[in-house]
Amino acid sequence: MTEPNSSAPVDPDVYKTLLESTKAIPWRIDWATKAFSYIGPQIEALLGWTPDSWAGVQDWVDRMHPEDRDATFNFCVSQSLAGVDHEADYRALTKNGGYVWIRDVVHVVRKDGEVEALIGFMFDITARKKTEEELVRLQHELQELSFKDGLTGVANRRMFDSILEVEWANARRNRQPLSLLLLDIDYFKQYNDLYGHLAGDECLKLVAETLSGAATRARDFVARYGGEEFVLILPETDAAAARKVAERCREQIAALAIPHGNSAVSAVVTMSLGVGTIVPDHFREPKSFIDEVDRLLYRAKQEGRDRAVSGA
Ligand code: GH3
Ligand code: MG
Ligand code: MG
Repeated sequence: MTEPNSSAPVDPDVYKTLLESTKAIPWRIDWATKAFSYIGPQIEALLGWTPDSWAGVQDWVDRMHPEDRDATFNFCVSQSLAGVDHEADYRALTKNGGYVWIRDVVHVVRKDGEVEALIGFMFDITARKKTEEELVRLQHELQELSFKDGLTGVANRRMFDSILEVEWANARRNRQPLSLLLLDIDYFKQYNDLYGHLAGDECLKLVAETLSGAATRARDFVARYGGEEFVLILPETDAAAARKVAERCREQIAALAIPHGNSAVSAVVTMSLGVGTIVPDHFREPKSFIDEVDRLLYRAKQEGRDRAVSGA
């Protein structure tokens, strides 16, 4: 029987085949001549320019959107001279005059302290950029228009609807899980009855602030869904992670220790949560997912309040 020999040389063709069958486009630039010594044939399918038309750095610069050109070139040269691996996003010109968002991930190869070559991969990040641009646009709207809840300062239901639509489409495209938390204050009617409506308002503000702090990732999103009900969107978050966030929210609300003399479950203000996770497909609408999470919230109320019930 022959043992696999890990030190046996691998045929370079194997590497070449591997490199040329990925979606990322590999390339190499010889630093002394600033010429491309290699560029993956996939470049033609993406931009329309043949591999041989990429002679040197100048071709790369010329085929860049004029608005991105100087900043990208200067950044890449300075990083390369400093011997620092780096990445740059820019719009690359296609042969038919359009533009494609590219992320270039660059590794600086040094020999005897000198830069010898740059090697890297180009990635098509069009879809990602589209999501980012859409999110930036919506964030802008949040500031510009009144997509904010007047009392608590967090986003309102309208903003929630827009953000959910974007994240839903994004999760579907990337086949990523999306989690949703619906949170409702327990016995809030009794709170108002005992302490007054103004105290109720103060309580809502504190709850909103606390929930904003409990969701820590950049794209996590908090909104006031209505009355004493809040909602969290957690993109790229699976069921286990969502349960953790839910538990953190519940604990942090309880830790505020806002006295509630009329609650049947606790001496302080508490919340009940419904926690749902989905990898959206073309057959599901956000509305039916929200309804499902709402039913989980209802179960949390039924099962005694001050708890999270998750669907998974
Ligand atoms: P449960 O534990 O089942 O959730 O009971 P609950 O009393 O919290 O639920 P219910 O839906 O019966 O009452 C919600 C209360 O929230 C009634 C309403 O007066 C109060 N509320 C809604 N919006 C506001 C607000 O903006 N400010 C104040 N102070 N109270 C509000
Ligand atoms: Mg309610
Ligand atoms: Mg309530």
